[in-house]
Amino acid sequence: MIDLRSDTVTRPTAGMLAAMASAETGDDVYGEDPTVNALEEQVADVLGHEAALFTVTGSMANVLGVSVWAAPGKEVLCEAEAHIVRAEQGAHAALNGVTTRTWSHPGGLVDLDAVGRMMVPDAGPYLVSTAAIAVENTHNFGGGSVQPLADLRALRALVSGTGVRLHLDGARLFNAQAATGVSVKEISAPFDTVSICLSKGLGAPVGSVLAGPADAIAEARLRRKRLGGGWRQAGVLAAAGRYALDHHVERLHEDHAHARLIAELVADADNAVVDPAGVETNIIVLNVGESAQRLVAEARAAGVLTGMVGPGLVRLITHLDVNTAQARKAGEILADLIRTP
Ligand SMILES: *Cc1c(COP(=O)(O)O)cnc(C)c1O
Repeated sequence: MIDLRSDTVTRPTAGMLAAMASAETGDDVYGEDPTVNALEEQVADVLGHEAALFTVTGSMANVLGVSVWAAPGKEVLCEAEAHIVRAEQGAHAALNGVTTRTWSHPGGLVDLDAVGRMMVPDAGPYLVSTAAIAVENTHNFGGGSVQPLADLRALRALVSGTGVRLHLDGARLFNAQAATGVSVKEISAPFDTVSICLSKGLGAPVGSVLAGPADAIAEARLRRKRLGGGWRQAGVLAAAGRYALDHHVERLHEDHAHARLIAELVADADNAVVDPAGVETNIIVLNVGESAQRLVAEARAAGVLTGMVGPGLVRLITHLDVNTAQARKAGEILADLIRTP
C-alpha cells in the first residue's frame, strides 16, 4: 500500500529508534528529563521564542496556546476550515469555554479586511470580546497553502496595541519554510505563541511543541497537567523529535517535489481535477465531484490510500515513507482511474 492519507502515518526510522533507545531520561513533571528539556530549548531557539513545551499532540499544543490568551467567554477568530475548529473535537469550546468566529478563504489564508472588520478587542457589556486570532501555516484543508509573510506582518500591525494575541498553528510550519526559503523563525516572529508538530512531515512517532513567552509557557505547563498531559520519562519521545529536527527538515522539499509529480500526472489525465501550480507543499487536493467516494475506493483497491476532506474533495499527502518511485506509481494509478471512469 502507498499510504497518502496523511503525513502522520510515517514509522520511526532505524536512526530515530536508535536515538530513542539511547535517550537520557528523567521525570518530566519534575522538569528533570534532560532530553525533553533539550528538545524544548532547541525548538524555542529555532522558532525564536523564549520558551517551549513538549506536548502529546498538535491539538493539545493548540488548545494550550489559545487558552493562555483567551479566557472562558472570550472569542478567537480563525479561518472557517482551520484545524482548531474542524478537527479538534470542539476542544476550545468544550474544555476552555472559548467561542470562535470565522472568515472564509479558499486556500485558508488570512483575510486582513475581514479580520479588521471582525475584531472587537474590548467589547464591553454587549458583544463578545476578541482575545486572539489563530492562523494555520501551512493550511491543511486549504491544500497545504503557505500564508504570505507580508500578511502575517500586517496582521501583527493590525493587532498591535489592542491586546489581541496571535497564535500560529504551525503543524506544518517547516513545510512553509521548505516551500519559501523563509526561516521558521521569521514566519513565527509576528506570533505570540506557535505550535509545531514533530509527527507530521518531520516523521517522529509522537509529539508537538508549543513555543512562546516564558510566563505563557509556564501557564501552559500547568494546563497541560490539568488535561492529563503531564508525562514522565518522555525523553524517549523527545529524542525522536530531536532526531527529526536534526535529520528530517532539510529533506522536506522532496515531499513537495513528489506532491507536484503526482499532481502533474493527474492533471495530464484531467486538468480540471487539480492545478499542479497550486500545489505549494506536500498536500494535494483533487476536485473530483461526485466520483470522489468511488475514486477513494478504487484507489484503495489498486494499492493507494487517500482520504476525503469535503464533498467531492480527495486529499493526498506525501511524506518520509513515500519515495519517488511510489509517488510516480500513485500518480499513474490515480491518473488511470480518472482517465477511465
Ligand atoms: C495535524 C494537525 C494538527 C495536530 O493534530 P494532532 O493529531 O492533534 O497532532 C494541528 N493543526 C493542523 C493544521 C494539523 O494538520
